[in-house]
Amino acid sequence: MKISIIGTGRVGSSTAFALINAAVADEIVLYDLNKEMAEGEALDLLHATTFHKRMIIRAGEYSDIEGSDIVIITAGAAQKPGETRLDLTIKNAKIIKGISENIKKYAPNALIINITNPVDVMSYVVWKVTGFESKRVIGTGTILDTARLRALIGKNCGVSPMSVHAYIIGEHGDSELAAWSSAMIGGVPIKGFCRNCPYKDNCNKDLSKIFEDVKNSAYNIISKKGATNYGIASATTALVESIIKNEGRVYTPSVLLDDMYIGYPAVINKDGVERTIDITLNDEETEKFESSKNIIKEYLESIKNLL
Ligand code: NAD
Repeated sequence: MKISIIGTGRVGSSTAFALINAAVADEIVLYDLNKEMAEGEALDLLHATTFHKRMIIRAGEYSDIEGSDIVIITAGAAQKPGETRLDLTIKNAKIIKGISENIKKYAPNALIINITNPVDVMSYVVWKVTGFESKRVIGTGTILDTARLRALIGKNCGVSPMSVHAYIIGEHGDSELAAWSSAMIGGVPIKGFCRNCPYKDNCNKDLSKIFEDVKNSAYNIISKKGATNYGIASATTALVESIIKNEGRVYTPSVLLDDMYIGYPAVINKDGVERTIDITLNDEETEKFESSKNIIKEYLESIKNLL
């Protein structure tokens, strides 16, 4: 199993580290515009392999990604002071377009996972420019947001996040929503779970507060340490595992839906996105999901001359 990572900044290097710990790859190739840094990361990461699985890890050129089973994109420009999200979108779309052309040229059979933000828009760019089947182009979408929701519900309600089934869907951004009407803890609809909870008198968090905390997670972390990297690295590794092991795990990646990429529950197997799963949404959630789609549409409109 050969995995290449384009962009070895904080997210790319953390993802490589998480992949090494998961012992899922035989070879990892790192590519970054900053070649010195990619080389340094490769040398450092090689030493970590000693404790997990023998594998090749090296920095390389685009030609070195040839034969990759999976290519992960994390390359992008950082938002500069005074720059709007729209400016950043246009800048990153140009970067992602160039990267996609190289993946198409050197790794035409790879499955692509895009992490670069705005992830829904950039995943659409990857899909359009490579011309790959949509099931082979996956954005990380709201997988991380869903993980955050499950972690916070688990913490608040005293259960393992693994026993929480609740999704964040829509844009990976401010217009995302929690699909509360389909949320469950241990197979029990969440509102019923709360009604019967023995600790309910001491619970000071309603569901909307938990969702606000999820939405503010990235802002909070970035204000304290400048970036988020571990959560997304684990989320991406989980996605890779479901692909490599053909497990059919259900996550909320960014997938092609109504001619756009958007975070939605989907089954992930060896071919990528096997199918999406239509969860029950109430009227309010359906309305919010439609507004989220409209936000993504506006961003896509702003870059359509590039595609
Ligand atoms: P970073 O600045 O640390 O790393 C970005 C790297 O991309 C740099 O090393 C830079 O040299 C490289 N790069 C830029 N242009 C390139 C090109 N044309 N070819 C190859 N490499 C290039 O940033 P980061 O913190 O690692 O974040 C990377 C991206 O991941 C950002 O877009 C960020 O918003 C996104 N992100 C997404 C999620 C998510 O849930 N989808 C979570 C965290 C971060």
